[in-house]
Amino acid sequence: MTTLSTNTPTAELQAIDAAHHMHPFTHASQLNAKGARIITRAEGVWLNDSDGNRILDGMAGLWCVNVGYGREELVDAAARQMRELPFYNTFFQTSHVPAIALAQRLAELAPGDLNHVFYAGSGSEANDTNLRLVRTYWAEKGQPQKQWVISRWNAYHGSTVGAGSLGGMKGMHAQGGMPIPGIAYIDQPYWWGEGGDKTPEEFGLERARQLEAKILELGPENVAAFIAEPVQGAGGVIIPPETYWPEIQRIVDQYGILLIADEVISGFGRTGHWFGSQAMGIKPHIMTVAKGLSSGYQPIGASILCDEVAEVVGNCEFNHGYTYSGHPVACAVALENLRILEDEGIVDRVRDETGPYLKERFESLTDHPLVGEARIIGMMGSIALTPDKASRAPFAAEAGTAGYITRERCFNNNLIMRHVGDRMIISPPLVIAKSEIDTLIERAWKSLDEAHAKLKDEGLM
Ligand code: PMP
Repeated sequence: MTTLSTNTPTAELQAIDAAHHMHPFTHASQLNAKGARIITRAEGVWLNDSDGNRILDGMAGLWCVNVGYGREELVDAAARQMRELPFYNTFFQTSHVPAIALAQRLAELAPGDLNHVFYAGSGSEANDTNLRLVRTYWAEKGQPQKQWVISRWNAYHGSTVGAGSLGGMKGMHAQGGMPIPGIAYIDQPYWWGEGGDKTPEEFGLERARQLEAKILELGPENVAAFIAEPVQGAGGVIIPPETYWPEIQRIVDQYGILLIADEVISGFGRTGHWFGSQAMGIKPHIMTVAKGLSSGYQPIGASILCDEVAEVVGNCEFNHGYTYSGHPVACAVALENLRILEDEGIVDRVRDETGPYLKERFESLTDHPLVGEARIIGMMGSIALTPDKASRAPFAAEAGTAGYITRERCFNNNLIMRHVGDRMIISPPLVIAKSEIDTLIERAWKSLDEAHAKLKDEGLM
């Protein structure tokens, strides 16, 4: 067996990757036929690959590298903690300083009385925790029949069986026996794609009121919680109409059901606020966090609970936990990451300076003939590709074809943008500078031009 390194020829790495490494959310034989791009190093907002390309990471990895790559402080925090205490659990009436300190810090940062932290290793795990938490909460309150959790079609809450069922991705449900029982779905507040002739405001109210209808259909006495991302991420960065969240808040308050805000993407500055719930003006009982919590430098997630839910669940033994709940190294790195976000004023800069600049530049993409709308909040945005702006028409080709072509052009132009169907997404590191934003927009425009030409050539528009 040869020892592999970043100096190993690309083709050799690709061949071994194809032989032994199975990629998430990937059609393996299609990828293996062409070979994966091998990323070797990263600094700031820039990735290097094994062919010597320098690529602008418009996705912050997977929406997570909020403070950018190459942060020595995080390396040091990990090394220090590994030397001192590389692992210990918090199951058996034990605790340790990193878990305690991070929980204290999260309680300070999280809005309202979200003061109690249950750790997980990822966003999916944290949402599995939430599913069991909300049902346990109601059982402890003497209402064990309150089991239903309402979610939304095209929501993404993770890939475990629990979190995948909480999510509303039909392509995921179709594989492996999902969803599990007890989850119901309402439609998403996606005005551009589904709003028809209604104004965004009318449509936002209409979609929010589906929650009320679903609660009444299931019986309010049977509904435990509603879960949603403040701004859908993997569903295509769908920023709801302004009328949506206030109406959802009214409904959960009126029927006394718990609100779970999945902040896995929207947390830690992504929207220009510490949490998307603050951007949307909502008051969740539980928040799911991961990704930006450690800027992706360590795998960690958490559920942050309000006083009431924590107190009620605390009246029983909650038979749940992960080996890596409160992993000391992950906690130490997360704590240092939060210090960086705060001390460098990164969240404020996104809100006041680089976010507005990116918004102005990003929205200028609507001048491109292929772009129907461009919407962005903080540093998460998306554009809709369309053959006809006026009618907001989808492409006649299979959904995702135009998006895939555009993403390939971006990749070729050394820009990472993701496509969800025919929406193109950005979510760059929050430290992106204005000059890098200019580069991002230039490369996006060039890629759109090339995709436009190709779509025309192939008779797809
Ligand atoms: N919730 C949301 C909103 C997400 O975007 C994601 C990941 N993209 C998850 C949960 C799952 O997190 P993880 O991949 O860390 O399990």
